[in-house]
Amino acid sequence: MLSQGITVLGSTGSIGTNTLDVLARHPDRFHVVALSAHSNVTRLAEQCLQHHARYAVISNPTRAIELQSALDQLQCKAEVLAGRDALSTIARMHETDVVMAAIVGAAGLEPTLHAVQAGKRLLLANKEAMVIAGELFRKAAVEYDATIIPVDSEHNALFQVLPENFANGLESVGVERLILTASGGPFLHRSRDSLQNITPEEACNHPNWDMGRKISVDSATLINKGLEIIEARWLFNARTDQIDVIVHPQSIVHSMVAYRDGSVLAQLGMPDMRTPIAHALAWPDRIEAGVKRLNLTALNKLEFYPPKLDSFPGLALAYQVLETGHNAPVIFNAANEVAVEAFLQERISFLQIPSVVSATLDGCETGKIDRLDEVLEYDRLARNTACKAVNLLQ
Ligand code: NAD
Ligand code: MG
Repeated sequence: MLSQGITVLGSTGSIGTNTLDVLARHPDRFHVVALSAHSNVTRLAEQCLQHHARYAVISNPTRAIELQSALDQLQCKAEVLAGRDALSTIARMHETDVVMAAIVGAAGLEPTLHAVQAGKRLLLANKEAMVIAGELFRKAAVEYDATIIPVDSEHNALFQVLPENFANGLESVGVERLILTASGGPFLHRSRDSLQNITPEEACNHPNWDMGRKISVDSATLINKGLEIIEARWLFNARTDQIDVIVHPQSIVHSMVAYRDGSVLAQLGMPDMRTPIAHALAWPDRIEAGVKRLNLTALNKLEFYPPKLDSFPGLALAYQVLETGHNAPVIFNAANEVAVEAFLQERISFLQIPSVVSATLDGCETGKIDRLDEVLEYDRLARNTACKAVNLLQ
């Protein structure tokens, strides 16, 4: 088998680091072409040395000189590329066969879409990109014959238990419902009142998964699950009424597909992102991921509950956004990114995150989206409105 060239967008983050861990277990199968980070030059330089990357990309151009000297110190020969456009360059270049999209937020949209437009195999962790430009991804994947494999654990689980020809329509392959599991985050059993004074540290302390700060907060508000139902809509060509959410605190069942004949197929495993990453990298093969094996008899119990929509209004908002369609997911995502950042900076409270999202949805005009520049413009307008909503709360 020919070794495949991998580019990792966002290699210094939680998904990026786990991806490099899996890649290092399979040096005959994969080689690293390019790695990118936004500001952590030290970690990026170390990763480039360890994984023999050809290109080291820093999207924040003011850190380029620092990156060059960090590489020089390590005697690493990786070539430095800097700036936002460099992300698209490494996603498109001919040496790259596979792109892992692991940048957080809408910042990852352009290079991720470029990977699809260049016909690469895209491993999609950057859910925000799919949420805000799902239709563009769907069309580009068909037009440029690109394969998109979900890395988000729920969507990867669904991908594993769906038949291969699901893209023709879920009903045509006998699927009634997609059931996304949600851990419920760190505040699952807490009343709404008790969430008033949650600190960023508490919100980022997820019981089952070790993730970046933004997605950790999203998991605590359940807005992560809201983003995921929109992601599922586009990845699996599903209607809103075909997507359910069920709370499963142990994070062992990663999601399920319910079929017309009453069968429900689930994918189970330890809560370790290296499993979906390895699956996406090797599909349709299976490779070792370094993950602890699931021991079902050692587990006390597997629980399932309906989600508490009154304590976590972000999820109900996401269902509305999905129904509204057009630019509503762009507004929802942009407002959430602004609100989470404000919460992490202790400028607004935990419970004010969905308030900012809701106020922004109310304050922005709805409109259709056909092109990337329209997505970017609606994203910019929504961020302005969300910043004003944050300022009003202070
Ligand atoms: P993280 O914060 O740990 O890492 C983010 C990466 O993106 C870093 O390498 C950072 O340098 C880069 N980055 C940040 N801002 C950037 C910008 N403006 N421009 C370019 N690069 C930038 O995040 P993460 O937890 O690894 O999550 C990455 C993506 O994967 C998110 O979309 C998240 O929702 C998704 N995801 C993560 C997990 C998980 O377990 N961490 C699970 C499922 C999905
Ligand atoms: Mg997930």
